[in-house]
Amino acid sequence: MSKLKILFTYLKFRYRHFPTREKLEAYQQKKLKKHLAFVTEKSEFYQKYAGHELNDFPIIDKGIMMDNFDKINTVGISKDEALEFAVNAERTREFDSKLKNITVGLSSGTSHSRGAFLVEKTETEKWAGFVLAKFLPHGILGTYRVAFFMRANSNLYESVGSKNIQFEFYDIYADMDKNIEKLGKLGADILVAQPSALLMIANALDEKKIDIHPETVISIAEVLEKEDEQRIKKSFGLEVIHQVYQCTEGCLAATCKCGTLHLNEDIVFIEKEYIDDQRFVPIITDFERTSQPIIRYRLNDILAERKIPCPCGSVHTALEKIEGREDDVFIFNGKDKDIKIFPDFIRRCILFAGNIRDYRIVQQIDGNIVIYSDIDDKMKDKVVNEFKKLAEDNHFELPEIRFEKYTYDKNRKLKRVERLI
Ligand SMILES: [Zn+2]
Repeated sequence: MSKLKILFTYLKFRYRHFPTREKLEAYQQKKLKKHLAFVTEKSEFYQKYAGHELNDFPIIDKGIMMDNFDKINTVGISKDEALEFAVNAERTREFDSKLKNITVGLSSGTSHSRGAFLVEKTETEKWAGFVLAKFLPHGILGTYRVAFFMRANSNLYESVGSKNIQFEFYDIYADMDKNIEKLGKLGADILVAQPSALLMIANALDEKKIDIHPETVISIAEVLEKEDEQRIKKSFGLEVIHQVYQCTEGCLAATCKCGTLHLNEDIVFIEKEYIDDQRFVPIITDFERTSQPIIRYRLNDILAERKIPCPCGSVHTALEKIEGREDDVFIFNGKDKDIKIFPDFIRRCILFAGNIRDYRIVQQIDGNIVIYSDIDDKMKDKVVNEFKKLAEDNHFELPEIRFEKYTYDKNRKLKRVERLI
């Protein structure tokens, strides 16, 4: 692990600043040109696009990526080889091992088949530098204890450890009560975890089971809902909960000091496929990824743009929020066509009904809705009424709504609004 490289990347990200949007875009074009030249030379899949503009490259998705895995990657690793290696690492929980000096991860697919992703060692170092640059409150010379909760370990994250920066890894597959107890003993200056784990820790704080005072709390991996964010802020006594919007395809956005998510347009070029005047599906081209090029890769996510500029003054696109996955848009029967309803509107049926803390709303394959929440009959009626209003306003036929006890499988990502397919 090269500390010099981390430091260099750290400085680059910390102090690379674009005073105008034009300067940022000019920088992107320069990086794109260089990167596309590399990709068309090294990747068999992209060879035939040599000399072409980005617009000429095909838009791909996870399916196409996995089908052409062997030809797309530039390091001669086959899909079977990568999958076998990654599955084995998950099973034995030995995440330090590398295949041909490449870190292989398994992406937890929801709707699609599982996928593998490749990250080179140098890229790992870049990533570490990026995390340090974005979130260390006192820069790299401060002393920090970082508590990192994650679904499965990966040596991506452990690589950040150094003399004055200590990384404590908490496996969320393990007993969470024990994890929280350990966290209470060790403390943390920076706490990184997915919202579901942050909520559990917030509860432990509220119940005075632990007493920790992290200066920075960073939410990762799952969508952080506004009302959960409020709860976490309150329990930790913080003004801002930071977020990293990240997927196996890269780190796409991170919060600024004001708590606004900005796209990382200095690493990733993002084309926006608008679905209304505010929401878009991102198509990403990552000009730092070399082992597994990510070129015009269409994500399954819906992002909502922020209409007013962020007070921080950044020229990077600001987001209002991450709406959720495109697959989680609910589909209802309209008069003569399907009516699509964004997760945000489904969520509001709960929010408008009253103060409901824990809930999940799932649209089943048959189109019916199951609401998992521990609420009384009066509240259930209110929720149903909200759905009736939604159906009237949008002219769709309201399916059956059933209530169940609140449950959630911690081995999966917590999603408040989900459509099964
Ligand atoms: Zn900002």
